[in-house]
Amino acid sequence: MNRKFETRAIHAGQEPDTATGATITPVYQTVTFTHDAVDQNKGFAYSRTGNPTRAALETCLASLEGGRFALAYASGMAAVAGTMQVLSAGDHVVVADDLYGGSYRLFTRVLPRYAIRFSFVDATRPEEVAKAMEPATKMVWIESPTNPLLRIVDVAACAQIARQHGALLVVDNTFATPYLQNPLALGAHVALHSTTKYIGGHSDVVGGALVVDDEELHQRLKFAQNATGGVPGPWDAWLTLRGVKTLAVRMRQHERGASRVAERLRGRPEVASVAWPGFADHPGHDVARRQMRGFGGIVTLDLVGGAPAARAFCEALELFSLGESLGGVESLVGYPWLMSHAAFPPEEKRRKGISEATVRLSVGLEDADDLCADLEQALAAARAAV
Ligand SMILES: *Cc1c(COP(=O)(O)O)cnc(C)c1O
Repeated sequence: MNRKFETRAIHAGQEPDTATGATITPVYQTVTFTHDAVDQNKGFAYSRTGNPTRAALETCLASLEGGRFALAYASGMAAVAGTMQVLSAGDHVVVADDLYGGSYRLFTRVLPRYAIRFSFVDATRPEEVAKAMEPATKMVWIESPTNPLLRIVDVAACAQIARQHGALLVVDNTFATPYLQNPLALGAHVALHSTTKYIGGHSDVVGGALVVDDEELHQRLKFAQNATGGVPGPWDAWLTLRGVKTLAVRMRQHERGASRVAERLRGRPEVASVAWPGFADHPGHDVARRQMRGFGGIVTLDLVGGAPAARAFCEALELFSLGESLGGVESLVGYPWLMSHAAFPPEEKRRKGISEATVRLSVGLEDADDLCADLEQALAAARAAV
């Protein structure tokens, strides 16, 4: 049945429990499953390999991303590492250089020791991706919108390049969520999520997921996951599943709040620039309109007055908690230079456009007037600091 997103978020994989009728998927807090016979069980044997609570989450996420298969992981980074486990020594990956700091760290500090090579390119220009492809390229890796600068990468264009070379396209879809963007429908092979962010949505559980449509690729990923063991426990799967039920309403409200905040900050004398893909003059706006159903809840700004102003602004905010992460119901402010992007060398950050004046806001679900009032008093603090 062709049900809508909101319906699938609440029902896909979440039929009443067959054993008891429990309406809500139970937390199957068990390691092992009693066999009917030495060669027969009810579909589950051992909870690293599979667990019914996790399976419910996986079915739901697959449905929301429009793929046939999903795998849930212990964290977003475990999901990132999971994709890499289908590669071998000597393989080459083309990576969009504007990417999550943890992925960058894995690609530059860990995997080169396993003789996997990475080329970092500006993927907002797909011709740069095409230029970097080699005979050994097995994967193209992108994010869109990017963190923290909210640049937009043309997913379909990258998919075409990857497919021409017989390479996989992986899209880290954490910022957009399946509510706003479905990479598989745009030609990607893998949609990746840190479910820690919007999908969980309440900043109370770390998790990750991959969604794919290809059965053979699913089997390879699943084999590697079972072999390496980066699975979430049933409680974490359950919390994530509870979060995802409200993803659609939350994303609509996050976007409404972000649009109010972005409008309020833009043109203020204390603010040098505001990035939000919903602005018609955002360089990626047209591509975003084409591949997304909305512009998301993150707003990034550069303050006039550099580091002192940005620091004062971050620390003066009251409703926006100063912390890592994003995508929760509560508003968060981050300082990429020293926080989320600390893993990048300074010159690399500058080349990308991240400076000591850059501040990232994850706009939560509080009242937008209250959020704007909080931003006003923080702008006053920024002004006083320079
Ligand atoms: C947070 C994040 C990750 C890593 O996820 P964890 O759940 O923290 O391991 C990967 N990609 C993006 C875009 C993220 O924001």
